[in-house]
Amino acid sequence: MKRFFRTAAIALTCALAVLALVACASQPTGEAAMFKAGTYTGSAAGKNGTVTVKTTFTATAIKSVEVIKHGETPGISDPAIARVPASIVKNQTLAVDVVSGVTLTSKAIIDAVADCVKQAGGSVDKLQTKAGAEKKTAGAAIEKSADVVIVGGGGAGLAAAVSAAQSGAKVVLIEKAPALGGNTIRAGGAYNAVDPDRQKAVKMTKPLLGDLKSFLGISEASVGEFGPTLKILKGQINAYLASGSDTLFDSVELHMMQTYFGGKRVDLKGNEIHGELELVRTLTTNSPKAMQWLESLGLPFKNDISTVLGALWPRTHGTTKPVGTGFIGTLSDNAAKLGVEIMLETKADELITQKGRVVGVKATKADGTKVTLKASRGVVMATGGFGANPEMRAKYNTYWPSMPLTMPTTNAPTATGDGIVMGEKVGANLVGMGFIQLMPSSHPVTGSLAGGLWGSAESQVFVNSQGKRFVNEYAERDVLASGALKQEKGLFYIICDQVTAGNPQPGAKNGWGDDIDTLIKNHDVYKADTLAGLEQQLKMPAGSLQAEIAKYNGYTDAGVDPEFGKRNFGPKLTQGPFYATPRSPSVHHTMGGIAIDTQARVLDAKGQAIPGFFAAGEVTGGIHAGNRLGGNAIADIMVFGRIAGASAAAAK
Ligand code: ADP
Repeated sequence: MKRFFRTAAIALTCALAVLALVACASQPTGEAAMFKAGTYTGSAAGKNGTVTVKTTFTATAIKSVEVIKHGETPGISDPAIARVPASIVKNQTLAVDVVSGVTLTSKAIIDAVADCVKQAGGSVDKLQTKAGAEKKTAGAAIEKSADVVIVGGGGAGLAAAVSAAQSGAKVVLIEKAPALGGNTIRAGGAYNAVDPDRQKAVKMTKPLLGDLKSFLGISEASVGEFGPTLKILKGQINAYLASGSDTLFDSVELHMMQTYFGGKRVDLKGNEIHGELELVRTLTTNSPKAMQWLESLGLPFKNDISTVLGALWPRTHGTTKPVGTGFIGTLSDNAAKLGVEIMLETKADELITQKGRVVGVKATKADGTKVTLKASRGVVMATGGFGANPEMRAKYNTYWPSMPLTMPTTNAPTATGDGIVMGEKVGANLVGMGFIQLMPSSHPVTGSLAGGLWGSAESQVFVNSQGKRFVNEYAERDVLASGALKQEKGLFYIICDQVTAGNPQPGAKNGWGDDIDTLIKNHDVYKADTLAGLEQQLKMPAGSLQAEIAKYNGYTDAGVDPEFGKRNFGPKLTQGPFYATPRSPSVHHTMGGIAIDTQARVLDAKGQAIPGFFAAGEVTGGIHAGNRLGGNAIADIMVFGRIAGASAAAAK
């Protein structure tokens, strides 16, 4: 994602909500001084980095709180940034409610204000024990009817909402968090699609050609029902080789076979799994069309093509907006224009069925108000995965030797598998539940993808704390994560030079909007003029990293990596300064879930569609099987979200 970083560094303006809230509580008079009056700046760690606040005190009150700097996910963090400072000032306490779904940001704001309280000589203890925020009271029960009810306001749910509304349906969407976006808005935003127009600018390299030719040696009989697809692909490859073209080859069949091989895995119990042929075909055939649909809705894609980590082929696209904000922003704007009713802070509890048909949803609002939603045509489940539900992860995992409850996650805290539980209760079949994707390169403490610096997959070099490589950095994510987990404390470093880091200049930001200088200051990224300097900072044996990078540069020259079999290389690492980002695997994507067909209809254990019930996105299973290719998730949620919305709108 090197290009992504470079452009994003310029284009990205971190959604820095600066909020000044002035105490409206009456100022107590005649009380003993509690604070040294004045304005103080304090900070604390949030989900993606440091959150900084400015707090003004009178002698007896917290007068105002302002969030003046943060790198939290735009959109998702907004409710916490708006509500927590206001609540602290209004209630004159640190014991305020955290905003559900934005817990880490909320806590960071509270901790940063506590930091200011200390500086002002106040008692954090007293302010923490003082009674907290207002009590919430449930309102009168709400009942609504629509053609289509959608549960979940991430990428899949919003795509379904827009598509159902475009088909003429009256749509209500409920979202349990106070903001739309789910995991989608936090995702890197990588979107895989075969795209001859943009891909024609990409040259075929020797390693890619080697990868392509390797398909010719695979027997069709060995890939089961994918045999006819492989046969077509072989014909395409032979025609391409005969043409002598030096432009990148790509086809839907190549994307299908890579998704198949990328997902074909055996778990610890010996169960083999691979993507279901027709679902994989639907994904790969429709991802270019869904991209065009998004463009027609007003989401601009960049012309650059890259290979996001674990994507295996240069067909990754990015939008011009930071991370996943473009997808969510565009879809929610269109949903609003099309009259979709969106109810935030409304959590679905169970599905309503009548004679075997799903006819609605029972939900509860954050204040306890009961909601009943009736759906005359269908309900679309789009609640995402269960990556943030440690107990559920441990219950289903059959792929990793251990799945500690404490393992961090890249996921939004709302990814708790609710839709899978609700679906199972009405007879939905669950598939591939044991297969959970770990994101190899996550922040070792927060589990976030943010807070680091690196370029496209081919240019990344992974070393352990001894300065030694341990894996082919261009491999699938499970191979990378498995390699990483074998290193001391599961920790490794991504090494870049100035070029492969995207040539960051002072004040530059990475693709998540993190200020790179701040990352370096906080030791989220290490920077040194020489590799020897990096070795010293990282306490690696003297000479180790230097020797390893010299060896790696030799492999780059030769285009062959005899140790780990890397085949696709970026530039050599020669130009200081050099950078190291500490990383560790964290839970990223739960591949299993509700069984669906190509129309996004939910299937029961006999493979029969459950009337009135549709699902899309990470809540479903069967597509990515044992390992999802990087860049296939956003394509999946857009393709199947769009289908689910149209199917539900058309349901009788
Ligand atoms: P996908 O990528 O499949 O769209 P996301 O994680 O982006 O998945 O979005 C799923 C959304 O569903 C999240 O915003 C999450 O808060 C929401 N959600 C999860 N469980 C519920 C529930 N019980 N009721 C309403 N919304 C839910």
